[in-house]
Amino acid sequence: MKYNLGDYVITKKKHVCGNDKWLIDRVGAEVRIKCTQCGREVMMMKMDFDKKIKSIIPKTNHE
Ligand SMILES: [Zn+2]
Repeated sequence: MKYNLGDYVITKKKHVCGNDKWLIDRVGAEVRIKCTQCGREVMMMKMDFDKKIKSIIPKTNHE
């Protein structure tokens, strides 16, 4: 999966708050994403995160 800082991702599973759109906050061996609805931040290994992504909304598309 190719994504950059500032991109949005739609996850296969929704967050507990009902939202499925996340902002990519940090990229590296671990990825940090922030829920765009409740603001909760979640950090996980990149390889695990990649499996959860349904689609990517590049930063350039929403600026
Ligand atoms: Zn949330």
